[in-house]
Amino acid sequence: MKKQYKCPVCGWTPAADEPNNEWEHCPNCLSSIHVEDEMGFECGGVLEPVSIWVKPCGEWEIIQRCRDCGEMKNSQMSEDDSPLKILAVASKPLAFPPFPLERIEELTKIMGGCGDVGGYYHEQRK
Ligand SMILES: [Zn+2]
Ligand SMILES: [Zn+2]
Repeated sequence: MKKQYKCPVCGWTPAADEPNNEWEHCPNCLSSIHVEDEMGFECGGVLEPVSIWVKPCGEWEIIQRCRDCGEMKNSQMSEDDSPLKILAVASKPLAFPPFPLERIEELTKIMGGCGDVGGYYHEQRK
């Protein structure tokens, strides 16, 4: 039997009748743990959602930033994600840029590729 998912950030657990998925990030707070950084070093920081990005192909992704080391990650949105939380992240006031400007280049790199994985949202929105 699989270990039940428990969010290390907000403590969220799936309801008993929900399938116990392997979530890439917590569907409740959209955060996850930064296990290791680009160089392969352990980090253990909290990856917080800073923005929502819709790729040119219509796929939705969450941009996360590590609270400890500042590394940015993109995480594919899942059908279980809390719509309220997504809206809250998407409508963050622009007065507080969610990422330092010097990381724009890195961010563009993340956002540039439109992968081959035809996302859930892409398929459901026809
Ligand atoms: Zn959580
Ligand atoms: Zn980190």
